[in-house]
Amino acid sequence: MNVLVINCGSSSLKFQVINAVTEEMSAKGLCERIGIDGSRLVYQKTGGEKEITQAPMPDHKVAIKMVIDALMNPKTGVVKSLDEIGAVGHRIVHGGEKFASSTVINDEVIKAIEECSDLAPLHNPANLIGIRACSELMPGTPMVAVFDTAFHQTMPEEAFLYGIPYKYYQQDKIRRYGFHGTSHAYVSGRAAALMGEDISKLKLIVCHLGNGASVSAVKFGKSIDTSMGLTPLEGLIMGTRSGDLDPAILQFIANKYNKSIDEVMNILNKESGVFGLSEGLSSDFRDLEDSKNRGEDKGRRAMEAFAYRVAKYVGAYIAAMNGVDGICFTAGVGENSPIVRNLVCEHLGFMGVSIDQDANNQRGKEIVISEKSSRVKVMVIPTNEELAIARETYALVK
Ligand code: AMP
Repeated sequence: MNVLVINCGSSSLKFQVINAVTEEMSAKGLCERIGIDGSRLVYQKTGGEKEITQAPMPDHKVAIKMVIDALMNPKTGVVKSLDEIGAVGHRIVHGGEKFASSTVINDEVIKAIEECSDLAPLHNPANLIGIRACSELMPGTPMVAVFDTAFHQTMPEEAFLYGIPYKYYQQDKIRRYGFHGTSHAYVSGRAAALMGEDISKLKLIVCHLGNGASVSAVKFGKSIDTSMGLTPLEGLIMGTRSGDLDPAILQFIANKYNKSIDEVMNILNKESGVFGLSEGLSSDFRDLEDSKNRGEDKGRRAMEAFAYRVAKYVGAYIAAMNGVDGICFTAGVGENSPIVRNLVCEHLGFMGVSIDQDANNQRGKEIVISEKSSRVKVMVIPTNEELAIARETYALVK
């Protein structure tokens, strides 16, 4: 069965077609600048060339119609008719406390996702637009919602509560939820397979280090803590997000520079992180590495602060799980930056972590990068959130 995996943002839409039985991807692509001038579809059949089509996309329905047409194109498409798409899997950012697992989408589920929108005002409404557009264009095709927050619903109260008046949790559900759950679940599962052990016996830490970044503690297959919170702003220093800080900084900057809360939030989300620490040089670690290699402070300081924060979370989660068997690096930076992995692991020598530099310099595959003598296994595991969504979708509709 072919599963169309959709990740719908406010002005973009990423998609993949995955055969859920062979787990092979037949096509992937991206609609950019939906609702904005200059919109375009980037489409690539597996093994084929990238095709770029410039065309107006006033809304997501037009964008999804273009995706469907590209998938059915007699020359470069991958299906003859829509009947060959057995299901659609939607990535949904926030499932609140309502969703602890993926679910088949019906009117009730759509209403519940709507009700979570105040927790993710930028993401859930865009995800819902994708669901509605697909259900209009592909009526009768079953759809599944896969939530970024669901995997972390196993966090205990002591980990998810903030130290603020309890009524804000009771009345408003202000608590830590965590994100990147599909990736943390997938990577911890692959780590157990690579270690040749049953996940129900392992204490694992997953460092999902991409433009957005989070760490999770996965004890015996369940997430017991993770670094992102009510929103994806908490935790690690990220590409452009600040991560943890003293909340009083908001008031300080607002008062001193005469800014509104929204303006300060924009600084914390879009102008901070390694981008801010490198004085606006870049949020991309390739640029930061080049800067560090040129001997500049900008790149060095941003990378060191980033790695220190990751290592602090790893240390905290070793305490939370009372031990650790494996530490995994994944996502854009985690998979591709030997330097960042070294910087993080330098802080972990105290517990017998040592890295095999030859293994650490390899790319693009699942690999153990710790030395045989290392007391804790350190691994690089490429994440595959789309495959994880296709698997969840297939499991629910087959
Ligand atoms: P993601 O959000 O997982 O797609 O990660 C994107 C980020 O990965 C980029 O912004 C870069 O910082 C980082 N990245 C991608 N390729 C490399 C590379 N070859 N070396 C270092 N960092 C990389």
